[in-house]
Amino acid sequence: MTIHSHDIHQQLTAYLQPNLASYLDLLRQMVSINSYTANAAGVNAVGDLTAAAFADLGFTVEKVPSANPAYGCHLVLTRPARSSPADAPQIGLVSHLDTVFPPEEEAANDFSWRREGDRCYGPGTVDCKGGTAGIYMTLAALQAVAPQAYDAVTWVVLVDASEERDAFDFQDLCLRRLAGNTLACLIYEGGFTENGAYTAVVARKGMAVYHVTVEGRGAHAGSAHEEGANAIVQLADTIGRIAALTDYGHELTFNVGRVAGGTVTNRVPHRPRPGSRCAPSRPTSLNMASSRCWPWPASRRCAAPTAALPAGCASTSSSRPHPGRATRPPSASWPCGSRPAPPWARRWRPRSGAA
Ligand SMILES: [Zn+2]
Repeated sequence: MTIHSHDIHQQLTAYLQPNLASYLDLLRQMVSINSYTANAAGVNAVGDLTAAAFADLGFTVEKVPSANPAYGCHLVLTRPARSSPADAPQIGLVSHLDTVFPPEEEAANDFSWRREGDRCYGPGTVDCKGGTAGIYMTLAALQAVAPQAYDAVTWVVLVDASEERDAFDFQDLCLRRLAGNTLACLIYEGGFTENGAYTAVVARKGMAVYHVTVEGRGAHAGSAHEEGANAIVQLADTIGRIAALTDYGHELTFNVGRVAGGTVTNRVPHRPRPGSRCAPSRPTSLNMASSRCWPWPASRRCAAPTAALPAGCASTSSSRPHPGRATRPPSASWPCGSRPAPPWARRWRPRSGAA
């Protein structure tokens, strides 16, 4: 079986062009459903729509619940090779169902499907409902233009229900389903445009998630303010230091994405907790991140206490790093938790129950 690249492109284009309106309508339907990751019903509705579309191409659907029960179901859509499916090569195609805007944020900003000229706008139009539509278009065109090639391969379309969150079960699902005779796994995340040309994403950043806990000392804000150590104040300083670790020259970014802490305004808070996502591009960058962050020198990890305002202490933990191209767990060079606390930090341990 030989496919000549010089005319396959023309044939695929000739097939896709007259069908463009139907593909855009499929994309419009997907974008019109809010599929914020925590909106499991919406994510599953997009999943049902996706499964119905791919059924037309001969795909069967398997729905795999997310490890986090608050999220929707991943999709595994399979179309076995026509002959000897057990021995046939397979190709994985990956996209995701979820998007990042809650329904109320979409409504408040009028984030909805619209077309302007040759561009479409709306939540997930590129990331990644457009990717799913792209997979559909690729396979539909291949089936029509090169049926022998289409039938010779087992196609496995894997669609993540919780890609926009720090969930790791989908990657394990992909590795299990694409074990064996897999030729390639193609990710359909859209790229940027450069000088009017469209680009493809050919690699993804790795990721490590850091949880930073800041400890101060609780006290009544009115009657005993001077006895407290305000952990939120310390946290604000710590967040700035984390953000300053971003190094675009080495494609290393730190994003403080979530902050929680404090209870009431009449209490000096003793333990807020931000979550920070570190996105290195390669293992060396992740190692660089680890060496820059942890162990911080004591003067950087913890502001020195003063008699007037004893400061808090920043300590860290990590979750599993993204396995993409970042392969070394940051905890391997991350002794913060195992280091003995400096004497002043032990002295200023938070006092529970202060109010
Ligand atoms: Zn995406």
